[in-house]
Order: sequence, then C-alpha cells, then structure tokens
Amino acid sequence: MANLLLRTVTKLVKRLVISHHKRSGVVLFSDTTLRDGEQMPGATLEPDEKLRIALALEEAGVHSLDAGFPASSEADVAAIQQMVGVVRKPVLTALCRTLDSDIDAADRALEGQPKHKRGASLFCGTSPLHREHKLGKTKTEILGIIEKSVGYAASKFEIVSFACEDASRTERDYLCECYKTAIAAGATTIGFPDTVGILTPEKSRDFMKVLKDGVPNLDRALLAVHFHNDLGLAVANTLACIAEGANVVQCTVDGIGERAGNASLEEVVMALTLHADQYGRKHNIDTTKLAPLCELVAELTGIAMNPMKPIAGRNVWATEAGIHQDGLLKNPDTYLPYRPDQVGGPAVHLVLGRHSGRRAVAHRLRELGLEPDDARVSRVLERIKELPKGAVLDDARLSEWARS
Ligand code: MN
Repeated sequence: MANLLLRTVTKLVKRLVISHHKRSGVVLFSDTTLRDGEQMPGATLEPDEKLRIALALEEAGVHSLDAGFPASSEADVAAIQQMVGVVRKPVLTALCRTLDSDIDAADRALEGQPKHKRGASLFCGTSPLHREHKLGKTKTEILGIIEKSVGYAASKFEIVSFACEDASRTERDYLCECYKTAIAAGATTIGFPDTVGILTPEKSRDFMKVLKDGVPNLDRALLAVHFHNDLGLAVANTLACIAEGANVVQCTVDGIGERAGNASLEEVVMALTLHADQYGRKHNIDTTKLAPLCELVAELTGIAMNPMKPIAGRNVWATEAGIHQDGLLKNPDTYLPYRPDQVGGPAVHLVLGRHSGRRAVAHRLRELGLEPDDARVSRVLERIKELPKGAVLDDARLSEWARS
C-alpha cells in the first residue's frame, strides 16, 4: 500500500517536473562531450580528465551530462563512478542499448547518485537501413523491444530517455509510433538524433512539427534533439528545432564528435543569447564560462581548435587588417559581433603583419612605452611590408626596429 502510494506520488512529481520544463520555455542543454565527443578518433579522455570537464560543464550550467556508455568499457564505468556524488547539479545519464544487461550496467555505474540526478539513455535503430542491415528486425519487433526495454529502464530509473537512432531517415509514421510506444512505456524524454547529419534546418523543423502532430502523448515527455555536422548545419538545425519548441538540445564543446562532429554547445548558446528576441527562449548557461571550457576540452582531448573556430578559436579575437585595427581602436564594436568578455575570451589582439596599418603600429609602440612619432612608425611599417609570407611581428623585434 505504502509502495503503491510512493509510486503514484513519484509519477505525479515526474509529470509536474516535465510540464514545468515544457511551460518554462527554457532550453535545457544536455552535453555529450564526454560520450559522443570522446567517441571521436583520437579524443580519448582518462576518467580524471572527464571529471574535470564534467565539473567545468556543471559550473557553466548544463542541465544534464551524457556521462558515458557503461556496457562499452570499464573505463566508462570508472569515469562515471568518479562523477557520482561529485558532480551534483546536472543529471548524469548513461547510454544503453535496448538490453537489460546494458540498463543493469548503467544502474550499477550510477549507484549512489540521487534518483532525480541520474538517468538511463536508451537508443535503438529505427530506420529501414538499421532495421534491415544492422538489427535484422521487423517494425513490429522493434516496437516490442522499445516497450520492453523502456519499461525495464523505468523500473530502475526515474529519468529515462529513448532515442530512435537514425531518426532522420526513419519513415515519419513509424517514427511517431516508436516515440508513442516509448512514452507509454515510461520514457521521460524522447530523443531525435540526426545520426548521419543529413538534414537541413527546414527539414529539421518539419520533423518537429511531425512529432508534435503525430505523437499524442508528447505532453508527457521532453523532446530532445541531437545533430551531427556532416553538412556543417548541426548548429543551424539545432536552432531550427528550438524555434519549433524542442526542450532539450544535445551538444558537445568545440563541436567534437563522430565524423564531422556534433552541434557545438558554445555556438548554440551564443546564437540563443544574441538573438533572444527571435527565439524567446531562456537558457541557464553562464556565457562567460564558454571560451575557457572550449580551451579545456581542446587541451584535454588533444584535438586542437581550428583557428577560426567560432567563440574560442585563436583568430576570433585577433586581427591583422589595417582597416579593422583602426576601427577596433576607435570602438571595439565596429568589427566585433560581441565583446570577448561576454564569453570569457581574451582581450582583442592586434596582430602586426603585412596587412597592418599606421594606427595599430603607433598603438603598440605606445603600449611598449615608445613614442610613436611619424618617422618611427614609417620606419616600422616599411620593414613590416618586407616580412616573409605568413610572419607576424613580435614585441621584441618591434622595439628593436623602432629604436634602430
Ligand atoms: Mn551522435
């Protein structure tokens, strides 16, 4: 009797939490750097490195962390166990195939984590390609697997997410049926992954409409999206789904991940922040933590950032072009989309090279305590133009030239 009452109350609380999240309009960030990101060739992280990243993500304000795939390796189990009880604010989720043994492994790995801060994240291929070539199962058999495995996960976890792998290449009617089955079996989140990164923003948005119209019990679960960047559209697709009401976005720091990577967390956050008027959706990410987070992930994974990487690449806050340097010195906003301190980035750096002009040279000389008189500036500029291809002028050489 007491048990029945507890189960009823728990169910009610879950419904209230889900409807609260849905009504609040807050975009919840679910980070998968430590799972999908780490899956990338060459990006292996040790358990203590994963913990450092997890704590930095917690500080940045992510809602949940895809902490690993316990059934896949002992290292994943070890990493998750290090996070249990230490990473307190985000929900820690563990990836599972639709197998009881995977769900049991997730349950063991997350032992000790408070019930409302741990979840199982199940996936099963649903597209014709996955059904026929990977799983060798019929549509009906897969519906049965979803019902059974989600039900089992729900008996062990209060938070259960279910994703149709290769959702973007699954027949729409069948996709809706899979999600309906998962929610009926106890899924609290349904995930829509564009597993091979094939969609455009318009088609992504259409899928959201299809799910809203075709999944009758969608009011009982959060809707999460997961985009890959094979066409360079992962961030754009994520934003398109936010515009259409997606509740949770799965992203990675620096956009690392399988093949061309995942939607980049920092880029989605900044687009939402700078275009709050357009999206009308709040988020709980502290943007000043973004650039340091990008640096940390690049450092620990050993995957160097492209110099042009939005938000944190080394060229984002550096400029060599004379006209831009002149504008930036008069008012930084002339050639910046936002100030670097908004993302915790470094101060704007004026690079002195072949493209630089008088004003930047004079500015740097003054910073070095050298009077920037006309003759001196001209002398430096003259020599800058003779720098070899790709070279930039450092302070030591600048002082030497200015004094000679
Ligand atoms: Mn993925």
